Amino acid sequence: MGANITRRDFLNGIALAAGASIIPPEMWAAAAADLEAQDAPGYYPPAKIGLRGSHVGSFETMHKVRDGDFWDTAPKPVDTGESYDLVIVGGGISGLAAAHFFRKNAGDKARVLILENHDDFGGHAKRNEFRSGSRMNLGFGGTFSIESPAPYSAVARGVIEELGIDVPSYPKYVSKDLYRSLGLKSRIFFDKETFGTDKLALNVLRVGSDESGSTDASREAGMKEFLNEAPLSAKAKADFQRLMTEEKDYFPGLSSDEKKARLARLPYAKYLSETVGVSDEIVKMLQAFPHPLFGVGFDAVAAQDAWGLDAPGFKGLKLDPGAGKGMNRDCIPNEEAEKYFFHFPDGNASIARLLVRKLIPAAVPGNSATDVVLAKADYSKLDQASSPVRIRLNSTVVKVNHKGDPATAKEVEVSYFTEGKLKTVRAANCILACWHVVIPYIAQELPDAQKEALTSAQKVPLLYTNVLIRNWSAFQKLGASGIYAPGMYHTSMNLDIPVSIGGYECTKKPDEPIVVHMMKAACKPGLSAREQHKMGRIQLYSTTFETYERNIREQLLRILGPGGFDPARDILEITVNRWPHGYAYEYNSLFDKFWLEGTEAPCQVARKPFGRLTIANADADAYAYTDCAIDQGYRAVQELKRN
Ligand SMILES: Cc1cc2nc3c(=O)[nH]c(=O)nc-3n(C[C@H](O)[C@H](O)[C@H](O)COP(=O)(O)OP(=O)(O)OC[C@H]3O[C@@H](n4cnc5c(N)ncnc54)[C@H](O)[C@@H]3O)c2cc1C
Repeated sequence: MGANITRRDFLNGIALAAGASIIPPEMWAAAAADLEAQDAPGYYPPAKIGLRGSHVGSFETMHKVRDGDFWDTAPKPVDTGESYDLVIVGGGISGLAAAHFFRKNAGDKARVLILENHDDFGGHAKRNEFRSGSRMNLGFGGTFSIESPAPYSAVARGVIEELGIDVPSYPKYVSKDLYRSLGLKSRIFFDKETFGTDKLALNVLRVGSDESGSTDASREAGMKEFLNEAPLSAKAKADFQRLMTEEKDYFPGLSSDEKKARLARLPYAKYLSETVGVSDEIVKMLQAFPHPLFGVGFDAVAAQDAWGLDAPGFKGLKLDPGAGKGMNRDCIPNEEAEKYFFHFPDGNASIARLLVRKLIPAAVPGNSATDVVLAKADYSKLDQASSPVRIRLNSTVVKVNHKGDPATAKEVEVSYFTEGKLKTVRAANCILACWHVVIPYIAQELPDAQKEALTSAQKVPLLYTNVLIRNWSAFQKLGASGIYAPGMYHTSMNLDIPVSIGGYECTKKPDEPIVVHMMKAACKPGLSAREQHKMGRIQLYSTTFETYERNIREQLLRILGPGGFDPARDILEITVNRWPHGYAYEYNSLFDKFWLEGTEAPCQVARKPFGRLTIANADADAYAYTDCAIDQGYRAVQELKRN
C-alpha cells in the first residue's frame, strides 16, 4: 500500500449489442416511472442505491432507435425554439471538457447545451454516496483515479491544473500504512467449483506490482505461505514454482523481435499451457488477472501484453525491454505516467464535478479541488435559461442532422427524447461526445465507411459494485485488504485506498462502516474479445438486480464468512454500477490486424469531422482513460467550423 495503487494493480487484487428482446418487459415500464425532473426537490442521483451505472430509464430509447422501433411510434417533435452556439451529445468527461475548451475559444457568453441520457452527469465518472447514521461513505461507481499508462498530454494535464487538482500532493491525503499496520494483505480466494474447495490464501501473484515484499527473503516467505495454503495439486504447485523462477528460453534461435512477434499472436493462456507446459489449475488461477484492465481473461490477451504486465514465464526469453509491435498501450510500462496518480474517494467523479463547477458555478458550490469532495451539487441549477451553459439530463439524443447540405449548412438540428416527448433544438455546431456505437444511429448523414468504423468501437462490459458493510472486522480477522477470486462472480473485491480529503474522513477503524468495491468483467472465454464483449453486454442488460444481489451476498458469505461476516447483519447497502458500455475498446494484437501492422485504425476513420459535426469521446482514440476523454474533447473543439 506504500506505492500508488493503479488500475493496473487491481490485476492481482493487491489494491485492494444487446437485442431489445433480452430486456425484461418490466424494465421498460420501470424506465419511464424511474425518471424524475432534474429540478424536482430532492433530485440527487449520487445518493441513489441499487442498480446504477447504466440505470433503468437511460438506455431503452436508444435501443429502440437501434432496433428501428423508435420512429414508427415516436411522438410529433416539439420545437423548443432554443438555439445554441454548440450542442454536445454526452455529459461524460469528454463532453464536459469539450464545453470548457469551447468557452475558452468562444468566450464565457457562448451558449452551450449538453444533452445526457443518464440521470447524472459525468458518464463513467460516477459518484456513489452511502449513508449509515450520520456518516457518509463515498464510493467510485466508475472511473477510479487519475492515472494513465502514458503521461498525460499538456492539454489533459492543463485541465487537471486549471481545476486546481495538485497531483503531487496526493500522498498527504492517504493513510498509506493503515491496512498494512493491521496485518491486511492481498489474498486469493480459491472456490470449490473451480479448485475443489473454498480456501483463502496469500496472493503472491506478481503481475504489474508486488505487495508481498520487495526483498528476496519476504518473497520467499510469501511463496512458502502460498504453497502451504493453496488447495492446488502437488504438480500444480511445482509448476507454479517453476513458472515463477524458471529461466528457460522457450523460443531458442529467435531474435528478441521475432519472439515478440510470436508472443503478439499467441494468447497468454495458450502460452502457459502449451509453451511453458503448466497445469490447467495454474491457467485457471491466472485467467481472470487482466479483467480489471481489459474486461477479458488471459485467453484473449496476447502473451506479449502479459509480458509487458510483468506476468510470469518470460525471464528466460531475454526480451529487449522496449515495447514490441502491436503491444497494448496499457502494457507498456512508463515511470513518468506511473507517478501521475490521484484517487478521490468518489474517483474521477470529482473531476466531472469540478468541470461542472467551472461551467455552471452555482451548481457545485465551493472553490477548491478538495472542497468538491463534500460539496452537494444542486441539480436544479444545471439547466437554467439564464445560464450560458446548460446540462439537460435524462435526455436521449435520437437524431442529429444538418439544416441543408452538410458541406454548406449553417446549422444543425438535434432531436432528443425526454419524459415521453420528442424535442428539438438548433445549434451552429454539434459535438458527438457519446459512445461511438451510438453515432451511426443518430447521425445518419455520415458516410458508410465512417459509420462502420464507429460501430467497431465495442465497449467493454463491466460491473463496478459497491457494498456498504457495517464493519470490516472480517477483513481484519482474515488479514485481507483485497481479494482476487478468479472463479467467483466478481473476480475481485477490495477495500478502497484510505483517502481523507477536503473534510471527508475515510474509515480507519475496523469496527466502522466501509465500502467494499467488487468488480466483474462480463466475458465469455474462448471467443474473440469483441464477441466476448457483445455476449457480456447482453448478460449485464438481462440480469436483474435480485440476481446481482444474490450473487453478491453469496460471494461475501463464502469469502468473509470464516471471518465472522454475516450478510444479513452486515450488508447495509448495495449499489451495482452496471456498465454494459464500459471501457473504450483497446486494440488487441490477437484480433486486430491493423494494430499489429501499424496501419490506419478504425478510430482514426471514426473521428473525422463531418460538416458541423465533430466527434469526441474516449472511443475516438480507443483508449480507456480520462486523459483520452479530455484530449478527444479538445480535438473535437479545434475541428469545429468557426463561421
Ligand atoms: C468502470 C470504469 C472504470 C474506469 N476507470 C478509469 C480510471 O481509473 N482511470 C481512467 O483514467 N479512466 C478510467 N476509465 C475510463 C474513463 O472513465 C473514460 O475514458 C472516460 O470517463 C470516458 O469519458 P467519455 O466522456 O469519453 O465517455 P462517457 O463517460 O461514457 O460519457 C459519454 C456519455 O454519453 C452519453 N450518451 C450516449 N449516447 C447518448 C445519447 N444518444 N444521447 C445523450 N447522451 C448519450 C453516455 O450515456 C455517457 O454518459 C474507466 C471506465 C469505466 C467504465
